[in-house]
Amino acid sequence: MSDFCLNYPISFEKLIRENRIEFPLNYRHFVQTGVIAKTPRSVSLETTATCQLSCKMCDRGGIRRKTMYMPDEVFIAAIRNLAPYRPKLNFNGMGEPLLDEKLPERIAYAGSHGFDILGLVTNGLLLTPQISRELIAAGIRRITISLDGNDQASHESGHTTASYQAVTENIESLVRISRELFAEHLEIVLRVTIQKKNLASIPSIFMRWHDKVSFIKVNFVYQYGNVQTDPVVPFRWKERIPCPSMLSGLMILTNGDTTICCMGDINADLRVGNVTSDRLDKLYSGEIAQSIRNKHLSGDLESLPVCQRCAGCTISSFYFGTLARSIETECMKYVNSAAVEK
Ligand code: SF4
Ligand code: SF4
Repeated sequence: MSDFCLNYPISFEKLIRENRIEFPLNYRHFVQTGVIAKTPRSVSLETTATCQLSCKMCDRGGIRRKTMYMPDEVFIAAIRNLAPYRPKLNFNGMGEPLLDEKLPERIAYAGSHGFDILGLVTNGLLLTPQISRELIAAGIRRITISLDGNDQASHESGHTTASYQAVTENIESLVRISRELFAEHLEIVLRVTIQKKNLASIPSIFMRWHDKVSFIKVNFVYQYGNVQTDPVVPFRWKERIPCPSMLSGLMILTNGDTTICCMGDINADLRVGNVTSDRLDKLYSGEIAQSIRNKHLSGDLESLPVCQRCAGCTISSFYFGTLARSIETECMKYVNSAAVEK
């Protein structure tokens, strides 16, 4: 690991060595009691499964289902089904959400049904000033933009062929517009996915953006089984744990099929029903969902090949999270010390 040190006063090796794994409270509660809520805390709604990029780190290459846009009748049925439970709603799945031209009107429709936490993650290429205005007017609460570097080469390490200039201009204009509109409810978040090639650029991303956006989140490439990644920190495959994804959320795909996994199940192998015909509590904690969870929790991964290939249920998923928070803290210390020196 010695060749991945940053050229800044931040020792990546030291962080790796010293990091203890932090388990969130709800996860510890589940492991101690086995009790799971009747409905999920968050739901990902895939209004499109298409994308204009083909990033090497992305699982999309493994999609076997038809990639399409969510039909209106599926979208409306999903919102009406979820509304009584008000989970946190993310407009993400296996596509770039801003390719869905109906997205602002769909976000406004969800908002009119009482969802108060609405977010999306975008590659930023289509986040034009006009779309930014429309999303803010629609009531979006959090826009997360992927930015993986401080120049074209480092940004491309994650988002293959994405224009660094276009993305950064769009972030700048979103920041400006949100200030003009006094959009205090909006969080603008940058998500930096760490790769070997962009590791050294991470502190300078914090330097440039920390006082413009709400916060910067560091992220690792996960191995969900559909891509071969070249991880900065090796996955700890032998240490299997109950998958946190299966214990907190659902993902609704464009045709309404719903999977118990909100991260890696790109072809709905863990399908628990369809949101147009099954109520949310049945989808999340009904017989099919419990049977899948029981197999998973008893370690019977042979009957769940999608989980067997996936690092989501290894200790790495929490280890990376803890490590990412430490890197964020160190980068902010670096930013603050640079400000003092000035
Ligand atoms: S932009 Fe996002 S969804 Fe599209 S290929 Fe890249 S990582 Fe995947
Ligand atoms: S192990 Fe992977 S595929 Fe299985 S539920 Fe977790 S994230 Fe999804």
